[in-house]
Amino acid sequence: MAEAPKPPAASRAGMKKELPERFRDYKDVWVFIEVERGRVHPVSWELMGEGRKLADKLGCQLAAVVIGPKAETTKRAIKQTYHYGADVCYIVEHAALTDYRNEPYTQVLTNLVDTHKPEILLLGATPLGRDLAGSVATTLQTGLTADATELAIDDDMCLGATRPTFGGTLLCTIYSLNHRPQMATVRPRVMAMPTPDPSLSGRMVWDSFKMKEADIITKVLEFVSDNTSKDANLAYADIVVAGGMGLRNEGNLRLVRNLAQVLGGEWGCSRPVVQKGWATADRQIGQTGNTIRPRLYIAAGISGAIQHRVGVEGADLIVAINTDPNARIFDFAHLGVVADALTLLPALTEAFARRLG
Ligand code: FAD
Repeated sequence: MAEAPKPPAASRAGMKKELPERFRDYKDVWVFIEVERGRVHPVSWELMGEGRKLADKLGCQLAAVVIGPKAETTKRAIKQTYHYGADVCYIVEHAALTDYRNEPYTQVLTNLVDTHKPEILLLGATPLGRDLAGSVATTLQTGLTADATELAIDDDMCLGATRPTFGGTLLCTIYSLNHRPQMATVRPRVMAMPTPDPSLSGRMVWDSFKMKEADIITKVLEFVSDNTSKDANLAYADIVVAGGMGLRNEGNLRLVRNLAQVLGGEWGCSRPVVQKGWATADRQIGQTGNTIRPRLYIAAGISGAIQHRVGVEGADLIVAINTDPNARIFDFAHLGVVADALTLLPALTEAFARRLG
């Protein structure tokens, strides 16, 4: 297997400048813990793992921010932040914070930042995190790197947030040299999940909620759960089987679905498959789709374009099936099979069904 291209080490040679004196007031790495309807989004813990590395490099504390109602679920989330390495947890609890609403959450988070001045603030690039990060960065008038794929501290102790650019053909490292905090969002599964340590504990810092419900424009009248949703849970699946344009037509996607089902995994696809209307967008894997980190990824009839590759590189084992021995996917697959997916997929399904069933 060929070496995956490494993003450049965070470096801003040639653009060095003295950092303003006021930046000295800013310290610590913060992670916003996304708690929605009592459930912590796993990306928050992935960010705690990454935040710990940044804090250790900076020689500062790692802090978690938990915002929500006064409830058992909030209490549980606070406790978990320590297990995932938080030295301190900033907490704001109020009934008005039960459901996510941009206005109160932005106010709470910007108030906390104004008071305690973190050097770095990280959020998950989820629908909630993206919404909140944008409004917090705008309110604080600071820079935000969206969808970062690598975070590193440079020689001047500045955050370099690396992300794909120009349609994924290049990687760029973005620095926030004139404003603090340095903000970034990171998509689920881009960073590895750390192992929690239940013996760890830390400090709690409480702050109050300063808005009045009457002043909040958005009202949550009712929460309607989409029970019928068949949304794919690709990001956190252990086994993923995906099909690309090599499958030739929509009907042949069932070969991918069948194998995924027999293996107890999820199925996905490349972007053109979605663009053809053969699958819904939640099945797409890659730069503009899901990032996955399964134990096993089987890619059938997928060429291995860079935009697909960046979404699957975290997989433990990548198996590629392609008729073209020169397909780019063989550059990064751990196991390559030069074969017709239309005959190999059903054969694998049958063999696994016999063995596992
Ligand atoms: P193709 O490139 O057409 O490859 C089909 C492959 O199937 C070929 O390698 C062929 O040899 C093989 N094949 C043919 N017949 C068989 C057979 N019978 N059995 C086995 N193999 C066979 N793409 C993504 O996937 N995800 C993204 O998130 C994404 N985001 C993008 C974002 C931007 C801004 C841009 C510009 C592009 C993006 N793309 C993305 C598109 C990407 O560049 C590629 O075009 C795409 O991944 C190719 O899809 P494919 O491999 O299915 O199709």
